[in-house]
Order: sequence, then C-alpha cells, then structure tokens
Amino acid sequence: MTSNFAETDVVIVGAGPCALFAVFELGLLDLKCHLIDILDRPGGQCAELYPEKPIYDIPGWPIISGQGLVDKLTEQIRPFGAEYHFGEMVTELERTDGGFRVRTDGNTTIACKVVVIAAGGGSFQPKRPPIPGIEAYEGKSVFYSVRRMEDFRGHDLLVVGGGDSALDWTLNLQPLARKLTLVHRRPDFRAAPDSVNKMYAMQEMRQLEFEVGQVTGLIGSDGMLQAALIKGPRGEVEVPCTRMLPFFGLTMKLGPVAHWGLNLHEELIAVDTERFETSEPGIYAIGDINRYPGKLKLILSGFHEAALMSQAAKRVVHPNQRIVFQYTTSSTSLQKKLGVA
Ligand SMILES: Cc1cc2nc3c(=O)[nH]c(=O)nc-3n(C[C@H](O)[C@H](O)[C@H](O)COP(=O)(O)OP(=O)(O)OC[C@H]3O[C@@H](n4cnc5c(N)ncnc54)[C@H](O)[C@@H]3O)c2cc1C
Repeated sequence: MTSNFAETDVVIVGAGPCALFAVFELGLLDLKCHLIDILDRPGGQCAELYPEKPIYDIPGWPIISGQGLVDKLTEQIRPFGAEYHFGEMVTELERTDGGFRVRTDGNTTIACKVVVIAAGGGSFQPKRPPIPGIEAYEGKSVFYSVRRMEDFRGHDLLVVGGGDSALDWTLNLQPLARKLTLVHRRPDFRAAPDSVNKMYAMQEMRQLEFEVGQVTGLIGSDGMLQAALIKGPRGEVEVPCTRMLPFFGLTMKLGPVAHWGLNLHEELIAVDTERFETSEPGIYAIGDINRYPGKLKLILSGFHEAALMSQAAKRVVHPNQRIVFQYTTSSTSLQKKLGVA
C-alpha cells in the first residue's frame, strides 16, 4: 500500500454536514482543511441514511432532502478547496511539538495544528456477513469497499448483495474482471431499477453471472480465496473466485475515537460551549459526537458549534493574528475569499 503524507492547518475527522459547514467557517478565517471519512462520499448520515427524505428544520430551507443539503453544503465550501480523503478511517491521533499527526487505515498521515472531530454517531462500518472463517480472508481477498478499481483487474470476482453498492460495483468492475458473479439471496433487489436492468442485460449477453443464493463457506488458504460455496435453488454449488466483495450494509460504531484519550461520557465527547474544545487542547468536537448541557442532536446545532469552534481554532493556528468580526454581506475581504467580490 502506498503511503501519503500531507500538511494542513486543520484535519476534520468525518465529512458529515457539520464537518462540511466547518470547512466554510474555517475557510472564512483562512484555515485550510483536510476531511477524512470512512464513507466514499461526503454527507454522513444525510447521505448514507436518508438521502431522499425531506428535512424541514434547516434555517432558510423550508424543505430540502438529505442529499440536497449535502449538495448545497459542498457547493458552498467549494471556494475553500478542502481536500477529501474518502474510504479511509482515522485510526490514530498523536500529539507532536507543533500540533498533531493524524493517521488512517489507508496509510495516509496528515500533520496539522488543530483536529476537529465531527464523527457523528461514529464511523460507518461494513456489516460482516455470517460466513464461517471470513475474518482470515479480510483485507487479503475479501474487501468491504473498493479503494482502487485497478486492484480488481483480471480477478474472478464475487460480488454479494442486492443494494446499490452491490449493483454499482457489479456494473463498474465487470469490464475489469476476468469473470464476475453476482450473488443475492433472492431475485428482487433494493438497488435502483436502472442498475438492476443493466445487470440483467449484461447477464443476457453472458458478460456476468447472477446466482440466487447465500454464501455458506469459503475455500482457500493463507487468506487467498479460491472458491465460495453458494447455497441456492440448485443446491450447494462451488463458484471459483479470487476476490469477494460483500455489501451487507453499514452499522455505526464509535470506533477508534474511543482510544484517543478524550473525556468521554456515554460514547460522546465532552466539550465546553465557548470553543467546543475537548479535554485535550487543540482537539475540538462538533456535531452529534459531542456532549454539553442542553445539547440537541440537530444539524443546526452543529452549524453553530462549527462557527464558534473556528474562532478558537484560528487562535491556535495563527496566535498573533487579530480576529476581526465581519459579515459576508458587507465584507469585501470575505467576499474575495468566496470568489464573489
Ligand atoms: C433518519 C434520520 C433523520 C434525521 N432527520 C433530521 C432532521 O430532520 N433535522 C436534523 O437537524 N437532523 C436530523 N437527523 C440527524 C442528523 O442527520 C445528524 O444530526 C447529523 O447528520 C449530524 O452530523 P455530523 O456531521 O455530526 O455527523 P454524521 O452525519 O454522523 O457524519 C459523521 C461522519 O464521520 C465519519 N466518521 C466517524 N468516525 C470516523 C473515523 N474514525 N474515521 C473516518 N470517518 C469517521 C462517519 O463515517 C460519518 O460519515 C436525522 C438523522 C436520521 C438518522
């Protein structure tokens, strides 16, 4: 795995709605951000759990869908050029002389002055399918996400599941795979009908195989798959495969945040309400992950927290600069940063 190193002012753990708005508030104060999320796109719960549901309590938006809000937030922060690291989980946080080093399970290391934890209800993590012995293959020939499509080129692929992820990756990886088999326990899919139709069309043209059934066992050695046993209407069949991608949905777990030495209460990070700083100076927590008297787990609370946290972060990154309070309506300097002046 190649390693990546970067330096920035602020690393934000998570790319949910509160993290996205934090980029805006930090950007107005000239602070550069990197965001890291285990998901493959921005939006946290809004994008993952309720993209099409209407939200009615975002100020100024009488009605907006979960994904609609994420799209507007990403548009609003575009001028600030934040860097995103998707499909990576922040695993370690280390204090250094000048700030922090943040490490991910994707071998990315980022040096920064301030860390903002906007980890919501915790990291979305893939649900492990109930296949005996699957742990031995994980990370070697069984993967729960696709970081680099090229890694799957030339393989006999087994994609398992019936949702959007399973169907999207079936369609995207088919041209690269030597052979691709999709397995789902029944011929009905939760995925978008258009993707399902495309999959059936490819099956017709013998570009992929579709098996109805459940994976009951794996055959291989030293973590390298050779075949999977699939139990379905044809009985138990052995399907040769060298890579398997199970997509059984995601669950939310607090994950590594629990091990960063922060003052936690019932899996939430205690913060003050002036700066939203944790028990560790220079580490802030905003959005659903934090806890303080009167906390409401609403998106608008996270937006307010992002604004106050940014003022505090500015003082850490540029201790000698005076912060001048300005309105976006009337400040030419802010408008220049937004690219509208
Ligand atoms: C069905 C539903 C309906 C809702 N309706 C409303 C509503 O109408 N109005 C409202 O205000 N709120 C609503 N909410 C709540 C709202 O979605 C949350 O308050 C909001 O998403 C919190 O945003 P956040 O940025 O704090 O965290 P999240 O949206 O949870 O995002 C956190 C992100 O951090 C990532 N992460 C966590 N740990 C790590 C790690 N170690 N490494 C990398 N990434 C990590 C996660 O993968 C996740 O993507 C609703 C929630 C649900 C589930």
